[in-house]
This record gives sequence, structure tokens and C-alpha cells, in this order.
Amino acid sequence: MGYIICPECGKSFHSLGFARHMAMHRDNREKDTRKCYVLMVSRTFPKVHPKAEQETGFVEAIENGSKIHTIRADFEKWQNIADEVNEGKAYVSVRYWSKSPYNYKRDGSKQVEFKRLDKLEVQSVFMTRYSFFEVTLNDEYIYHPEIETLAKNDGLSYDDLDKWIFPPKCKQDEFWGAVIHFTDFKY
Ligand SMILES: [Zn+2]
Repeated sequence: MGYIICPECGKSFHSLGFARHMAMHRDNREKDTRKCYVLMVSRTFPKVHPKAEQETGFVEAIENGSKIHTIRADFEKWQNIADEVNEGKAYVSVRYWSKSPYNYKRDGSKQVEFKRLDKLEVQSVFMTRYSFFEVTLNDEYIYHPEIETLAKNDGLSYDDLDKWIFPPKCKQDEFWGAVIHFTDFKY
């Protein structure tokens, strides 16, 4: 009874403590003059993936430390963001959609921040699917067991990573992106 979920951090409060809690967020925002970059984490597999709409478990895996990075397109963009973050000019707000990521206007889905990154390490990853799935990490070609580790550290199986990057019907056969680290681990 009487619980309110904070739309900004997802914690629940008795109605009494809630106003004070929101004031805390307001104060923090006013104090924080840094730029905010939003990194959305998918709680379900994309519609084009064979596991479409099944749960990824990513948020839980990031929280329990088993998913230690995410892979995103556009290495240069993420490297520039990392520079800004590491110079103290920006931070990354890691968020998920409280309901559906697709129709927030209809179901009132909100972005929920569950992690902030005040420093950011990114590493380059190049993947191709000319005839099979191949990966170059930090300019070094890596083999099946290492790809398996990369996938596992991303919260996925080898196959799921392959199909996430190159969905079955996708015509693209090259992907150049960034491994964005949530921890101090680096390859
Ligand atoms: Zn909150």
C-alpha cells in the first residue's frame, strides 16, 4: 500500500518520503552541469532476432556483474563520447524502458536510469558476415573461443550475438562498432 515508484531511478517509496526523494533528484540535476548521454539497454531481443521479444536479462546481468559491456555501432561516436566523459564534461545514463520500447506514447513507458558511468572505456570491434561470423577486436582477428567469451561478457551466446549483429534477413555484412565497458575490464 502507498508505494510510489520513482520514474527516474526505479526505487520505490512510501508516499511520505517521495517528495523529498524527488527534490534530491532535482538538486542533483541542478548541481550537475555535465552533458548526459543516454545508453538504452534492451530488455527483450529485437523484433528481427530469432528470439524476438524474449527477455534478454541484460539489466539484471549488468547489475550482477555478469554482463560487463555492450556493443554499439559507430566506434568514432563512442570514442568521442568517452573523451568527453573522461574529461569530466559528460556522463552516460544507462537506462531501460519501463514498459514497451516501441509504443511509449500509448502505454506510458518511461526511461528508467539504473546506472551512471562517470568514466568510459571503449574498444573497437569489427564484425563481418561474408560467409560466416568473423570478429576483429582491437584490430586483432579473434577465433571462436574468444568470440564466445566476447559474447558471454556481453550477456549473450555466440549464436545470439551473431544474429543480434546480423539478423537473418539483414543485407548488411559488415559492422564497425564499440565495446562499451561497464567495469574496469578491458581486452
Ligand atoms: Zn529516484
